[in-house]
Amino acid sequence: MQNIVVGISSCLLGEEVRYDGAHKHNSYITKTLGQFFEFRSFCPEVASGLGIPRPPVRLVAEGEQIKCVGVKDADLDVTEAIKNISALQNSWLAEISGYILKKGSPSCGMERVKVYRNGFPQGNGVGLFAEHLKQNFPLLPMEEEGRLGDPGLRENFIQRVFIFNNWQVLNQQRLTPRALMEFHSQHKLIAMSHDQTMARELGRIIAGADKSNIDKTAEHYITWLMRCLTVVATPGNHVNVLQHIQGYLKRKIDADDKAELTETIESYRLGKVPLIVPITLLRHHFRKQPDPFIENSYYMNPHPLELGLLNQI
Ligand code: SF4
Repeated sequence: MQNIVVGISSCLLGEEVRYDGAHKHNSYITKTLGQFFEFRSFCPEVASGLGIPRPPVRLVAEGEQIKCVGVKDADLDVTEAIKNISALQNSWLAEISGYILKKGSPSCGMERVKVYRNGFPQGNGVGLFAEHLKQNFPLLPMEEEGRLGDPGLRENFIQRVFIFNNWQVLNQQRLTPRALMEFHSQHKLIAMSHDQTMARELGRIIAGADKSNIDKTAEHYITWLMRCLTVVATPGNHVNVLQHIQGYLKRKIDADDKAELTETIESYRLGKVPLIVPITLLRHHFRKQPDPFIENSYYMNPHPLELGLLNQI
């Protein structure tokens, strides 16, 4: 498997790049995710030439404009320096499959960053570099390290990274309507677990693909898919997908096995067992009764088992 490259705020890897020369090492990222992702670190403040140590900066609203200025010296305005250095990163940013950002930073924070208006903080800002990512790479999966502590958000982000990487790999070859159809068939059940209406729309988009409109259709499709995957999957939607998969076994397993499967899905619905339990039972039945659609479906094997993500949701 080709390496999956994920961008990351340098301080989260333990690099001593913060304004005070410290770091914000996150061991889940380096020890667990580091086994599956190759990290590309970037510190927009250091890259802007601000040095270590440096005066701390914060976001300040001036009318409609947001500036990044010194906490102690408001004449220290680093807004353009950070924006300019961010724009120079586009070539490698276009190649990566996700980004992990440091929460709360006036450069890297993805949301709820403090913005000072008339000296009073409001928690509704976005760091300047994170804003650059959002504007220029709207499909790129992004998450803050703080939110990776939540099992549902963590699984959602990691799943999006793997799926976006699948898309990038697919696009390394010339895209055909057939390849696009196959990609959709692999990811259809995953999309259903996030948002059933958007999943149906994805089916309609794919149905209209032909050689003459393949590039436009592909762009439309991936925009909808990534938007759909951003919606956090609910247990109710997972139950619908599990029952849908169960339907493929209707004539292939006996009444006792059916009852056990129904009971296991119900236990998941009631929160008594995690999602990995019904999925493992389904995998067991499909090993004996193979079905090409299910075997090919990314829903049954969304990311490496070692990450244990389905054990926690
Ligand atoms: S600018 Fe970003 S990478 Fe650099 S220290 Fe601040 S949060 Fe970390």
